[in-house]
Amino acid sequence: MNENIKSMCDHLREQAEDYALMEQAKEYALEYMRGVQDRSVFPNDETISNLEVFRESLNDEPSDPYDVIRILHEFGSPATVAQTGGRYFGFVCGGIAPAALAAKWISDTWDQNAGMYVMSPVAGVIEDVCEKWLVELLGLPGGTAAGFVGGSCTATLCALAAGRNSLLDQLGYDVSKKGLFGAPEIKVVLGEGAHSTIYKALSILGLGSERIITVPTDEQGRIRAYAVPELDTRTLLILQAGNVNSGAYDDFAALCKKAREAGAWIHIDGAFGLWAAASKRLGHLVKGAELADSWSIDAHKTLNAPYDNGIVFCRNRDALVNALQMSGSYIVYSENRDGMIYTLDMSRRGRIFELWATLKSLGKKGTEELVDDLHDKAVYFAAALRDNGFQIKNDVCFNQILLSLGDSDSTEKALKLVQDSGECWCGGSKWEGQSVIRVSVCSYRTTYEDIDRSVAAFAAAKEKALSK
Ligand SMILES: *Cc1c(COP(=O)(O)O)cnc(C)c1O
Repeated sequence: MNENIKSMCDHLREQAEDYALMEQAKEYALEYMRGVQDRSVFPNDETISNLEVFRESLNDEPSDPYDVIRILHEFGSPATVAQTGGRYFGFVCGGIAPAALAAKWISDTWDQNAGMYVMSPVAGVIEDVCEKWLVELLGLPGGTAAGFVGGSCTATLCALAAGRNSLLDQLGYDVSKKGLFGAPEIKVVLGEGAHSTIYKALSILGLGSERIITVPTDEQGRIRAYAVPELDTRTLLILQAGNVNSGAYDDFAALCKKAREAGAWIHIDGAFGLWAAASKRLGHLVKGAELADSWSIDAHKTLNAPYDNGIVFCRNRDALVNALQMSGSYIVYSENRDGMIYTLDMSRRGRIFELWATLKSLGKKGTEELVDDLHDKAVYFAAALRDNGFQIKNDVCFNQILLSLGDSDSTEKALKLVQDSGECWCGGSKWEGQSVIRVSVCSYRTTYEDIDRSVAAFAAAKEKALSK
């Protein structure tokens, strides 16, 4: 063996013990954090065109790790969307809770594989703990199982797989063995306002997107209860806690009761809205949601946990595990928690440490106050926009605001001007056939001052959009 020639592994080992590299990374990160409130919320054209530096062919020779992180910071940081600042209202996102960010830094150095207990006892134990905390916090039935996944999209896929298999199983058909060829038909019922990720999950699960029974919704986006077809033991009913546009909630008390009596499987997409269950003031919105069979929710939205933290809940633990087993319908519980039996993945990062840190740092009371605060700020924001001549198209029942200038053309113009201002950022959508602007108040970083500043940007945009 040649002692003088260093292999790549030798170089990497040296780098791993060069703590100054990590100090440098920390400096860059802190610089970003210090500047995020004052910069343009959306990256400007120049910073986006600078991203061209990344479009190079892969270097033959290794790069200096200091160069690697410098390039990322120099060109990557300015081209990020300032989502962790206080004036980002796009889609339904959320900030990053400080304790969770810090926990993420620490647990990144652990690089745990949360697939199985034997790979990471600490991940297994903390997943167990968070499952119990969340079930209680959200008022779900005792014993409900949780799987910790990337987001609601995956959570929905897992939940609907459990629902599909469970319904078919009750009809005497083992779909994990026989596949869908020749399976009894099951009926999928959902509201017109169902999120696109539901359709994605249904199509992956072989339930199609065209055979779905779509129930009309009211002016807020809630399922019209009288239009729900007959439900039975072959029905998968998908409801919504928080319409992605209006934030509206289906009438769970009525719909879940009816569906339960009929023997249907009920899934609730509660990506951001199910968190209302943690609030005494807003809990009425989710009354009856505990009657469902499965739920999907995102901690990276309302709870302000870091990406990516979604959760699938299933009332019947066996149904969830059975659907996600790698070996057909054989439930294998070990003495300790193996996270992979509740999710699609086997190897999985330890996202649970961030979720735990978020919950632990907030506590029950802090979570409730966070949820209430986001709602109060959305109500304030909507009132200020109305005072400035915008039409508010929805009841601001939670944290979503839909606004317009009356016609699609002016609304789209105003939206573009707001986006280009750099003062704040929000997206657009369609509501009742018209273009609307959608504002989501989802970050603890948003202050009343941030809202006033954003409203001023809206007012200026309106002025300009309506001139000539
Ligand atoms: C965000 C959202 C989803 C998708 O969640 P991801 O975490 O992006 O996968 C599904 N449904 C609703 C209502 C949402 O708001």
